Amino acid sequence: MLFMVQTNSMDETNPIVLQISNKWHIVEHSRRSEHALCGRRVTNRGAHARFSQVGVKHACPKCVETFQQLYPHNPLI
Ligand SMILES: [Zn+2]
Repeated sequence: MLFMVQTNSMDETNPIVLQISNKWHIVEHSRRSEHALCGRRVTNRGAHARFSQVGVKHACPKCVETFQQLYPHNPLI
């Protein structure tokens, strides 16, 4: 069943973002990641979305910076 499949790789083209303290932080996994890319601890798992829905302006700048270092050729950012 497809929903049981878990990969260990980040979705490079449209990563998952979690809302923590009114900022959208990029995470590798919506449910399993304990920290955002910037190092911020995931304290709750309320709202989550895809990066393209949120937009770079509303995303945590440190997460975006880290993401750019990981995937320098990403066309989204
Ligand atoms: Zn962040």
